Amino acid sequence: AQAKVDEKDPQAAALGYAADTAKVDAKKYPKHAAAQTCSNCALYQGKPADATGACPLFAGKVVAAKGWCSAWAKKA
Ligand code: SF4
Repeated sequence: AQAKVDEKDPQAAALGYAADTAKVDAKKYPKHAAAQTCSNCALYQGKPADATGACPLFAGKVVAAKGWCSAWAKKA
C-alpha cells in the first residue's frame, strides 16, 4: 500500500491538507465546508469504497477519503 500523506509534509502544509475534513481550520480556510472531502473532489482517484486514494497533487502517496485541502474542487 502507498504511504498516506502526512499533514506536516511541506506540500500538505502549503495546501492546508487535513486527513479529517472536520478538523480543517475554518478561520484559515473560510471557503471550506464540512461536506467537502477528498472523496467528492474532482482530483480524487480513489474508488468510492476505499478509505484512501491517489491525488495528483501528492504524487506517490495517498490522501484520506475524508480528508480535504484548499485545492478541493467539486466533482462534476
Ligand atoms: Fe483531496 Fe482534492 Fe485536495 Fe487532492 S485536491 S488532497 S483529492 S481535496
